[in-house]
Amino acid sequence: DITERKQAEEALRQAKASAEAANRAKSEFLANMSHEIRTPMNGIIGMTGLLQDTDLTAKQRDFLEMVRGSADSLMTVINDILDFSKIEAGKLDLEILDFDLRVTLEELNDILAVKPQEKGLEYTCLIEAEVPSLLRGDPGRLRQVLTNLVGNATKFTSEGEVTLRVTVQEEQEHRGVLHFAVSDTGIGIPRDRIDSLFESFTQVDASTTRKYGGTGLGLTISKQLAEIMGGRIGVESEEGKGSTFWFTAVFQKQPAGKERAVLPVEDIKGKRILVVDDNATSRFLLKEHLLSWHCRHDEAPDGETALMKLRAAVEEGDPFELAILDMHMPGMDAELLGGKINEDESLRDTLMVLLTSMGRRGDAARLQKIGFSAYLTKPLKPSRLYDCLATVTGGKKADSSDRTMVTRHSIAEERKHKIRILVAEDNPTNQMVALAILGKFGYRADAVANGQEALKALETVSYDLVLMDVQMPEMDGFEATQRIRDVESKVRNHKIPIIAMTAHAMKGYREKCLEAGMDDYVSKPVNPHELFETVKKCFDIASREEPVSHGTKLE
Ligand code: ADP
Repeated sequence: DITERKQAEEALRQAKASAEAANRAKSEFLANMSHEIRTPMNGIIGMTGLLQDTDLTAKQRDFLEMVRGSADSLMTVINDILDFSKIEAGKLDLEILDFDLRVTLEELNDILAVKPQEKGLEYTCLIEAEVPSLLRGDPGRLRQVLTNLVGNATKFTSEGEVTLRVTVQEEQEHRGVLHFAVSDTGIGIPRDRIDSLFESFTQVDASTTRKYGGTGLGLTISKQLAEIMGGRIGVESEEGKGSTFWFTAVFQKQPAGKERAVLPVEDIKGKRILVVDDNATSRFLLKEHLLSWHCRHDEAPDGETALMKLRAAVEEGDPFELAILDMHMPGMDAELLGGKINEDESLRDTLMVLLTSMGRRGDAARLQKIGFSAYLTKPLKPSRLYDCLATVTGGKKADSSDRTMVTRHSIAEERKHKIRILVAEDNPTNQMVALAILGKFGYRADAVANGQEALKALETVSYDLVLMDVQMPEMDGFEATQRIRDVESKVRNHKIPIIAMTAHAMKGYREKCLEAGMDDYVSKPVNPHELFETVKKCFDIASREEPVSHGTKLE
C-alpha cells in the first residue's frame, strides 16, 4: 500500500508550488513597488530640476537645493532597499551584455567626479594599458559597485584625493579577472571594525548622533554583487590616513578579432608635450595616456620648472609643441604661466591646453586672449583629451585669430543641434521633465501623449530618435514600436532608434524592451546624465554605416 507515500509526495508538491507562488508574488510585489515609488519620484526630482532653472531668489534656491538633495538621497535608499530585498529573494541576477570597459568608465567618471569636485577633492581614474576593453558582463552592476565605493570614499574624506585604479589580476584567452581599487585619503577605519563592515546594516559609527548618514547597506550589496560577478571584495585601511576598498570581478572577453585599438595613434604620435600639474596622480595619469599615444612626454610640478624645461627644449633645438597646464597650482597658476609663455618670444609658438576642474561661463574668451588653444574639464576622458590634442596640434597657433576655442562641447555641439527627438509619454509631468532635460543638453524635442500620436508624428516629421514610455493609454510603447518597425506602416524611418523609458526597473524588463524592437532602455526617475549618455550612444551607433540590428543588446 503506497497511499501514504503518495499523499506525502502530493503534500510536498503542493508545499513547493505554494512556496514558489509566494516567491513569485514577492518579486512581483517588488516590481510593482519599484514602479509605484519611482513614478512619483521622477516627478519630484524632475520638477525640482526644472524649477531650479527658473528665476529664483537666493533663499528659494537654497530651499530647492535641499528638496533636491533629500529626493536624491531618498532615491538611493529606495534603490538600496530594493536591491537588498532582491538579494533576500535570491533575485539578484546579472544581465550579461557586450560592453566596452573604457567607454563605460569614461561615462561613469563624469558622474562620479561631481561630488568629489564639489568637496574640493581631486578625483582620478586610471585604467592600466593592459586591461582588456571589450568585455562581456554586467556593466550596470559594475557601475553600481563603483558608484558605491567612490561615494563612500568621497563621503568619508574631507581633503586630498579619491582614485580609482583598474588593473588585471589574471588573464586567460577568453576571460580575465579585473581588479578595481578605490583609494581615499579620508578618516580610515579602525582595525577591529573591518571584519563586520560587509555585514548588513553595519556602520563603524552606529551612534544616533552619527556625523555621516547612510543605511549601512551599500557595502553588503557591493559584496553580493562582487561575488555574483565571480570576485571578492576587501579593504585595507589605516585610521586617520585613508582606505582602499578593492574588489575583483570575472569578465568574459568578447570573441577575438573584436578587440581594436581604443584610439588611432597616428596624428599625435611623436609630438613633444609638457605636462604641468602640481598633483602627482594627475601627472601620472596624463603621462600614461600620452605614452600610450606614443607622444614624447615630460612633466613639471610647477610653473618655474615648466618655464625652465620649455626654454631648455628650445635651446636644444627640439621645442615642446604643446603644453598641458593644470589650472590650480600653488604659486604660479596656469593663467599666470600661460601669460609668461605667451610673452616669451622663443616660447610663443607653444600650443597651450588648460585643464580645469570646473568650467565657468566666460572662461573661453579670457583664456583665448592669454593664448590657450583649448580647455578641458576634469575628469579627463582619454578620448576627449585625444580629440582635443589632435585638433589643437592640427592647426597652427599663428593663424588662430579666427579659430574658435576647442572645448569638450564644441565638437559634439555642432551635430547635436540638428538632431530632433520625439518623446512619447502620457504623464504630463514626466513629459515636461523629459523635454526639459533634452532641451538642456541642446536637443530639439517634441512630445506626444500615446503610441497613436507618436505614429502620426513619425509619419509627418523626420525625427532622429524616439523616447518611448512603455505604459501609455490607447497604444502602449510595445505596440507602437512594433508598428514603427513594420515596413508596411507609413512611418518614415522604420529603423529610427527607440529608447524605452519605464519605471519598471526590474531585471528582464530590459530584455522585453529589446525583444520588442527597442534599442535601449532608461529607467525612471530619469537621470539626466544617463538619458544624455544613452541618447548620445544611440547616435554613435546609428550613425555607423550599418543599421542597428534590432533586438541586439546595446550597452
Ligand atoms: P553607508 O555608507 O550607507 O552607511 P556602507 O555599507 O556603504 O553603508 O558602509 C558601511 C560603513 O563602512 C560606513 O557607515 C562607514 O562607517 C564605513 N566606510 C565605508 N567606506 C568607508 C571609507 N571609504 N572610509 C571610511 N569608512 C568607510
